[in-house]
Amino acid sequence: MKLLVVEDEDGIREALIHELCAEGYLADGACDGEEGLDLICTGLYDLVILDIMLPKRSGLDILHTIRQQKNTIPVILLTARSAIDDKVEGMDCGADDYLTKPFAFPELLARIRMVSRRHYQTAFVDNNLYAGNLILDTGRHELASTVTERRIRLGNKEYQLLEYLMHNTGQILSREQITEKIWGYDSNAEYNNVDVYISFLRKKLQFVFSDMQIRTIRSVGYILQHQEESL
Ligand code: CA
Repeated sequence: MKLLVVEDEDGIREALIHELCAEGYLADGACDGEEGLDLICTGLYDLVILDIMLPKRSGLDILHTIRQQKNTIPVILLTARSAIDDKVEGMDCGADDYLTKPFAFPELLARIRMVSRRHYQTAFVDNNLYAGNLILDTGRHELASTVTERRIRLGNKEYQLLEYLMHNTGQILSREQITEKIWGYDSNAEYNNVDVYISFLRKKLQFVFSDMQIRTIRSVGYILQHQEESL
C-alpha cells in the first residue's frame, strides 16, 4: 500500500513516513494543502493521512474538493485535541476516520488497517489478501496458496508489486503506473526493473501452485488474473 502523509509540521511528517516505511508501507509526504491535493489527484495513493490545519488549503477543503470529484480514496484526518467541530465537519465531508493529535503510532497503524480493509474489499481477512487460491500474508510478507503447505517470503519490492496487482486483480496496469507506484516519481528505475520483479513473482506463484497468473499485455503492462480467464 502506498500512503500519503499531508502534514506541515516537518518533524511529525518525517517521523510518520519513517515509521510507516519501517512497517513495510510505501509513504510520501506533502507539506502544504496544495501539494497534498495535487498528489492525491495523481491517483497513485491508496490512503491519505490528512492534517486539517495546513497552509494554502485546509485538510477539510481538500477533503471537500476530492469528494466532489467523486474520489473515494480513504482519508484519515488528523485533528487538534480541542477541535470537536472539525471532527464532525470532517466526517460529514467524507473522512473515513480521524485521529486526535498527539496519538500513539500503533493506533494510527490500527486505523490504517481498519480503514483500508473496509475500503478495499478484496477479501481482506485476518490481514491476508486473497485472489483465486492465492494468499498474500500482509503481516509476514509471505506468499501461500490454499492447495499446498508451501510458503515463500517476498522481498520488499516483490511484496509491494504483488499487493498492487492484487488490489487491482483483473485490471491492466501499465509499466508506467507500476513504476510510479512502486519506485516513485523521482526514481531512476528503468521500466525493465518491473519486468525483472514480475519474473521473480511468477516463479514464486508457481512455487505455491497458484492458479493466478501475471499476464503480459504486450507494449502496455501486466494483469493479474485467474489462469482460466482470458482478456
Ligand atoms: Ca498542521
